[in-house]
Amino acid sequence: MNYYSLNKTAPNTTFREATIKGQAPDKGLYFPERIPTVDPAVIKNINSYSKEELAFIVMQPYVGDTIDTNSLQRIVSETIHFPFPLVKVNDHISSLELFHGPTLAFKDVGARFMSRCLGYFSQQQKGKVTVLVATSGDTGGAVANGFLGVDGVEVVILYPSGKVSPVQELQLTTCGQNITALEVNGSFDDCQAMVKDAFMDADLNKALQLTSANSINVARWLPQQLYYFFAYQQWEDKQNPPVIAVPSGNFGNICAGLLAHVSGLPVQHFIAACNVNDSVPEYLRSGTYQSKTAIPTISNAMDVGSPSNFIRVMELFGSKYEAIKEKISGYTVTDEITKQTIADVYQQFGYTLDPHGAVAYDALEQYLSNHPDLKGMFLETAHPVKFPDTVEAMIGQKLSIPESAQHLFTKEKQSILMDAEFASLKEWLLTKK
Ligand SMILES: *Cc1c(COP(=O)(O)O)cnc(C)c1O
Repeated sequence: MNYYSLNKTAPNTTFREATIKGQAPDKGLYFPERIPTVDPAVIKNINSYSKEELAFIVMQPYVGDTIDTNSLQRIVSETIHFPFPLVKVNDHISSLELFHGPTLAFKDVGARFMSRCLGYFSQQQKGKVTVLVATSGDTGGAVANGFLGVDGVEVVILYPSGKVSPVQELQLTTCGQNITALEVNGSFDDCQAMVKDAFMDADLNKALQLTSANSINVARWLPQQLYYFFAYQQWEDKQNPPVIAVPSGNFGNICAGLLAHVSGLPVQHFIAACNVNDSVPEYLRSGTYQSKTAIPTISNAMDVGSPSNFIRVMELFGSKYEAIKEKISGYTVTDEITKQTIADVYQQFGYTLDPHGAVAYDALEQYLSNHPDLKGMFLETAHPVKFPDTVEAMIGQKLSIPESAQHLFTKEKQSILMDAEFASLKEWLLTKK
């Protein structure tokens, strides 16, 4: 399998090169040349496969011969080495809990797969790879955890100062070793813009082998398909596939779900659930796409005004508005409604949502109220404890910190303060080297 650049002016390349480079030389996102079909017999008998077997079947065509079979089996098994339970909230709605990984958010899947692939590839080449990544909250921790101690890889994480939660900040600032956190005096969009500038800068590209661990990197984006397959394994009524609501920011997650669907996974309908940063729902309503300046919300991992993966969604549907509209509905959910949803769902069903899951829950509920014959699930993308202030106020209870996160509170934050200027990042990277 080769990958082409969505800007269409760079040569096609392998999974290996696409993973190491992150972005194509013409600054486009890489996209698979064709979408592989998962054998319909596998879908039909999906419950007779283990998670590990299924993960290998799904990922193998995308990786091709760039990773040998045994290594890929090991990589996918390590990637998904935690539960992905589908939990019933009520008769119509289930929660696909994606927060049982080491940093309590779904991004562990992509980060673990990518770090292991990059570790594998870096054994075959000279010199260090520097992973540059901007985070709105959860990516940083997942990437730090996934890459910690990986030989030949240095990780630099940019995060917006004061705009991530305490657990999120600890997860990305306490690792040490090959992980450095840059605390940027600006927004997530500023961080993302600085990272994009770095990839385009000739001096930096000469001095360093830079790659991105944002979902623009195919090795982070593609494995996110896997839990949609695991969800279908757990879906009881296989004849009536689920409506799936995805809390969306950069649109990597929902785009991976759509990819799974195009390759044969039954899904009734997708819901792009956004907070007020709703360029895509706005596009789905009006047919006109316009990026916006990000507005801070309580679902901070979705505060993205210009979602980088939306272009991949367009590509999947041949950029046809009608085709996209038929498969995806968009919803905008305000902070007010998000909070109310957390309170209501706790009171009615005893289920604790995090703000991102709550956005998706509300969107799903709105859709199902117009389609009463359907049932659905939403992706619960982070553990509520990552957002204690909001959640505890709404449920009137203290949340307990899961054992796996308790060690964080014994460590000291280490970050380097930086202005939201590309020049500062450039100077720092060049002198650090
Ligand atoms: C990153 C993130 C999202 C948004 O995912 P995208 O792939 O960027 O759309 C949603 N919820 C949580 C908790 C996240 O960390």
